[in-house]
Amino acid sequence: MIPARRTTTPALRPHFDRSRLPDPETYYTAELGALHGRGTWRDALCCFHPDTRPSLRVNAQTGSYRCMACGASGGDVLAFQRQRYGLAFPDAAKALGAWIGGRHV
Ligand SMILES: [Zn+2]
Repeated sequence: MIPARRTTTPALRPHFDRSRLPDPETYYTAELGALHGRGTWRDALCCFHPDTRPSLRVNAQTGSYRCMACGASGGDVLAFQRQRYGLAFPDAAKALGAWIGGRHV
């Protein structure tokens, strides 16, 4: 159970707003450095294993990702943020600016 929390502004329940997730191409470029290739799927150095050749494939439109070497994968930039930094869903959403309401940090 989530403990009840006192708040002075109960008007806006904290919630996730997917439309505020960052653009996948911008996000992955910031997280991984250069993306290689020109199509929807780009290649980048994988951050989940020691990588010397770009093994991580990222979808510049949907944000899904999959590493051909270590098997790390997920469906969007939020999943990537959670996996890379070991974050719970709300914390990853907050880190990406996609969490509305509650206490902003
Ligand atoms: Zn990998």
